[in-house]
Amino acid sequence: MTEPPPPARERFLGAERAFDEAIIALFGCPYDGTVSFRPGARQGPAAIREFSDVLETYSPELGADLGDVPFCDLGDLALAEVRVEQNLEIISAEARRVFSSGKIPFALGGEHLVSLPLILAALESHPDLVVFQWDAHADLRGDYEGAVFSHATVMRRVAEAVGNGGLVQFGIRSGTREEWGWMKDNRTVKPLDPDHVMAAVAEKQGRPVYLSVDLDVLDPSVCPGTGTPEPGGSSFANLAACIYALRRAGVPIIALDVVELAPGIDPTGMSAAAAAKVVRELLISLRV
Ligand code: MN
Ligand code: MN
Repeated sequence: MTEPPPPARERFLGAERAFDEAIIALFGCPYDGTVSFRPGARQGPAAIREFSDVLETYSPELGADLGDVPFCDLGDLALAEVRVEQNLEIISAEARRVFSSGKIPFALGGEHLVSLPLILAALESHPDLVVFQWDAHADLRGDYEGAVFSHATVMRRVAEAVGNGGLVQFGIRSGTREEWGWMKDNRTVKPLDPDHVMAAVAEKQGRPVYLSVDLDVLDPSVCPGTGTPEPGGSSFANLAACIYALRRAGVPIIALDVVELAPGIDPTGMSAAAAAKVVRELLISLRV
């Protein structure tokens, strides 16, 4: 007789606080309704929680422990496969609730479109918001096969909302000719490395930052479990170094997300393990 599998982890590693005691509120956005190529990102939050179990709560690089971080895990939002606009409203309402309690929302995707309602909610209380996008893809299409709300258009919608200088894109290595033309005209793209991250923080002079981490910014050899893998990406060590650079630079992050993990195409679990470690290092970096 084989043993039954252990119950799925309901909360991220070390998430033992209640909402009232937390400064950072983690929640899952299990949605992949607009995904163009391979869906499955709706299972991302569950896999990130499950694989957080392989990690220790202590980060040697940061010399601190998840126990030092006042965060909670609110579980997943109920994003059934309904109309995209309804999902955006549900995410937006949750983000507003977290912001109105003076806390930092930290969303686990889900596809990249889930960032849009979070960023729009952040803008309501932080009109001088800057968005840092770490991603392989520009996500700047005006529409995708007629759809204005898609993970392929999300950063165009964001750019329209934040205005000139409000979007900084790191590590982009894929886009259409039009997208590359737009990025050149608007000078939004930088390499993803610690020096450029630090320089961008300094350039924005204390403006509040929303950090959006699309896991396909990592090389597919590090993170193959994502719907649209793009060769030529970041190593894990470089991505981690960029997280540590954010902390060194004292960046005022007011909300963040980690998106696009697709566990169904991650047979060894290595992508989920990478995603969980990114989340852990971000959480510990955000401690006061
Ligand atoms: Mn993206
Ligand atoms: Mn991407």
